[in-house]
Amino acid sequence: MNYLYILSEDENDDVFYKGCIEKITGMQFELIPRRIRKGGGISHVRKHLPLLLRDIKYSGYVENTFFLIELDNDRSPTHPNHDIQQFVYKLSKREQMKTCRYCEIENLAKQILGSDRNSWPISGAIAVPVQMIESWFLLIYDSKKYENEKSLPIFAKQKGGLAKRYYAPNKPDKQLKDLCADERKNLQINLKKDFCKYCADNLIPDKLQIISNSFSVFNSQVVDWFEQK
Ligand SMILES: [Zn+2]
Repeated sequence: MNYLYILSEDENDDVFYKGCIEKITGMQFELIPRRIRKGGGISHVRKHLPLLLRDIKYSGYVENTFFLIELDNDRSPTHPNHDIQQFVYKLSKREQMKTCRYCEIENLAKQILGSDRNSWPISGAIAVPVQMIESWFLLIYDSKKYENEKSLPIFAKQKGGLAKRYYAPNKPDKQLKDLCADERKNLQINLKKDFCKYCADNLIPDKLQIISNSFSVFNSQVVDWFEQK
């Protein structure tokens, strides 16, 4: 058995990541959850992340133990290229000021655990789905319909203020969480948690990494866990 520290935005996400990591590695994992407040976003990860990383540092090497830090990208510059995307100019000033979340997490991990990732006490992976975990779910659910991560909507909800302002004076189309809710209903799955499990079960990592660069960045870190040490 392997063990996984997980710091994520939502306990349903944990269900997906556990299954996802088991798919990528072909091994079994038991979760050691380190959850932040649901929907807490970057400020709560900022608060909890140093605590988790310091725990890892002081515990030192623990056999068969790994960590995962997850944060949705939410229209920040995307790792590793940090390309400026067209839609950025239509976002609010506050949204335009966002910086790469992957780099932010990795830089903090390097400050606390050491600048060489290979010398960290236990191996970790940083997941920053573009624009959010629902994007990966849609691409897993139907890659013909949704094509790739760049062709997906960029907001969480059609009725959300951010989407409304962005599309004004037009009405926004369905956004990522709306589309996921529709597909979950199509599958007749009542609970979000069960939909997360469904997505993990149906994930084909080699297929998803071709249509989602953010998944590819995550996948390659997890593959490395069993190649070093
Ligand atoms: Zn970056």
